[in-house]
Amino acid sequence: MGNTRLRVYVRGAVQGVGFRPTVYRIATELGLSGWVINSPAGVEVDLEGAEGAIARFVPTLLEEKPPRAIIQGLETRSLDPLGQNGFEVRDTRTSGPATTLVQPDIAVCGDCQREMLDPADRRFGYPFINCTNCGPRFTIIESLPYDRERTTMARFPMCPVCRAEYEDPRDRRFHAQPNACPECGPQLALWDPSGAVVATRADALTAAVDAIRAGRIVAVKGVGGFHLMCDARSEASVSELRRRKRREEKPFALMFPDPASVRAACDVRPIEEQLLTSPEAPIVLLRRRSTLLAPGIAPGNPYLGALLPYAPLHHLMMRALGFPVVATSGNLTDEPIVTDERDALDRLAGIADVLLIHDRPIARYADDSIARIVGGRPMLLRRARGYAPLPLATVESREPILAVGAHLKNTIGFSVDGQLMLSHHLGDLETPQALEGFHDVVARLPGLYGLEPGIVAHDLHPDYASTQHAETLRGRHVGVQHHAAHVFACMADNELTGEVLGVSWDGTGLGADGTIWGGEFLRVRGGAFRRVAHLRTFPLVGGDAAAREPRRAALGLLYEAEGDAVFERDDFEARLGYGAGELRVLRSALTTGTGVARTSSAGRLFDGVAGLIGLRQRAAFEGQAAMELEFAATDATDVDAYPFGLEGEIVDWAPMVGAIESDRRKGDGVPRIARRFHSTLTEMIVAVAMREELPRVCLTGGCFQNVLLAETTIEALRAKGLTPYWHQRVPPNDGGIALGQLVAASSSHQGMSSRPLAQSGDSL
Ligand code: ZN
Ligand code: ZN
Ligand code: FE
Repeated sequence: MGNTRLRVYVRGAVQGVGFRPTVYRIATELGLSGWVINSPAGVEVDLEGAEGAIARFVPTLLEEKPPRAIIQGLETRSLDPLGQNGFEVRDTRTSGPATTLVQPDIAVCGDCQREMLDPADRRFGYPFINCTNCGPRFTIIESLPYDRERTTMARFPMCPVCRAEYEDPRDRRFHAQPNACPECGPQLALWDPSGAVVATRADALTAAVDAIRAGRIVAVKGVGGFHLMCDARSEASVSELRRRKRREEKPFALMFPDPASVRAACDVRPIEEQLLTSPEAPIVLLRRRSTLLAPGIAPGNPYLGALLPYAPLHHLMMRALGFPVVATSGNLTDEPIVTDERDALDRLAGIADVLLIHDRPIARYADDSIARIVGGRPMLLRRARGYAPLPLATVESREPILAVGAHLKNTIGFSVDGQLMLSHHLGDLETPQALEGFHDVVARLPGLYGLEPGIVAHDLHPDYASTQHAETLRGRHVGVQHHAAHVFACMADNELTGEVLGVSWDGTGLGADGTIWGGEFLRVRGGAFRRVAHLRTFPLVGGDAAAREPRRAALGLLYEAEGDAVFERDDFEARLGYGAGELRVLRSALTTGTGVARTSSAGRLFDGVAGLIGLRQRAAFEGQAAMELEFAATDATDVDAYPFGLEGEIVDWAPMVGAIESDRRKGDGVPRIARRFHSTLTEMIVAVAMREELPRVCLTGGCFQNVLLAETTIEALRAKGLTPYWHQRVPPNDGGIALGQLVAASSSHQGMSSRPLAQSGDSL
């Protein structure tokens, strides 16, 4: 068993309370090497040693931390072992300008929960209780430094009792900026869909709880925006919510009353429970078990997105309810989450039967974060509440940089004093509301840090709303190729320097040659890249629209492999559901090439195979067919790969598609084919990695949210003596693109790039 290394980032009241000596004691008792140091946000620990001992460190630390230490956040990142010897307590870093950190929101702490449930306490039942160690931060800050006057709490003058707590250094609410009580702080109200007040304070809470129990849909204003909630056991409520929200098939997340109720519904491993109960309180994707929940929550999906109450309001509601509720973001599909109660009346009145609101304004929205365990480690799929906008990496260059990210699952990035930060998840830039939110964050979030970006990094795609907005901004502009940005993000997430092989697989992105990429193998070094291989391209009729129609990808695969002869088949109509007229149009498009885009996309290859084996012909959302292929494969036992070709730059899937076609004719089941398809992709990656003789392989892009593909590839690469890397704190999907853009822009500025990354030029 080899050594492993883990970096632990602890935030909170952990300085001057005997924290570093405790870390030292635990680390040395476990026989670990490394160091501990105070950081601007708290404490950083670097640990190296036997895998089992490393795994015991965090649980032991949480159990044995000094009594006065309070942990407000904890993230980890697995890194390459260095062969460190001994464990040292390092002096506080003093070099470099201290960046004022904007702290994320923190789930209500145990002390506050106890007070809230104590009838003798003056905050008994008060849903806005908080203290120095918990409560909202990011979502109430209007400007820095972080002081009450510059938060949305400024409109609530503290009563004398709260003021005394706030000013007393011995009080646990000393300088707790959102400090409040029932006398002076925010209050609840229950509105009907017309905005009329139906009840206030505790009565509002009781009425909202009764409404959920009665099967109704309630909009609940929380920390970073509204949730829509309903009884998760009631199929009638769940399907009504789907109908009103126009969200036909995407899975809903569930809020459970407590960890025991999550365990009753899902398989929960210790590392998953640690995430669920952490101060960041993300949604965690878990294997579901229960049949008590409404089938409409996540149709055909073996996973469930679970989260625990994090705002005091949620705790009060969930205690009263005692059963899980749907807790989906309060919006219409594709729009950003609603934060303002007036806005809620406009946008949620047609969805919610009643609205539970409060009068603490939300300065900026923050969706729930989403995490899953991949390869034994947490991987964030959406980085938002609880995590954003903490620094994720450091670079030499101190140049202020803004990165505007991609088009879907957008986040923006900025570099402050060499610290690279990502904004919260801003969503798909597809609706006017989403664009408005994006423009607002670009205009205001870097400004919180006093940042005036000299460099603006953006995607190469001219049609991305983010790219178009970048063009209106001053500064030196740097275009960064999409799939290279994914690899840079993965490298930064694993603190890698030097040369790696990046396997960058996603839906689509604009390639450096102007074609649509998505199944790329890139040699990456020092901010530059070279495309050494890619999946064989195939034609897609209708370009982007094909993402919603896996059968178009299926047709493209067959046409590429067999040519026009494919239209002689007589089973087409039955298999793909195309009528004769439609087929004529598609055929003429394919033969003339009009309205056809060629792509090397791995995501579209997933779609195509799902279409070929009859799993799905039309998708309600991008990636749905790929997810279903993953789920179908999970239970199959035959893992033999299909044949494929590798010649020059081309990784040829055509032999595989031929084999799938004949297996299908033989009557092989969907699970078996789906599993062998996954194995083939893994073998393709291994083959390219062996040929390129690059021992370090970064797995990135939206396809690596697929836990089966990621884990089988990790295993297969390791079996060949190669070292795989995957995402941890930064999403592998387009939510990580802005970080990759920052990395590229900061290294191109230093002139490290021998081959130009892409066009870059001055504008304005
Ligand atoms: Zn607290
Ligand atoms: Zn008060
Ligand atoms: Fe992408």
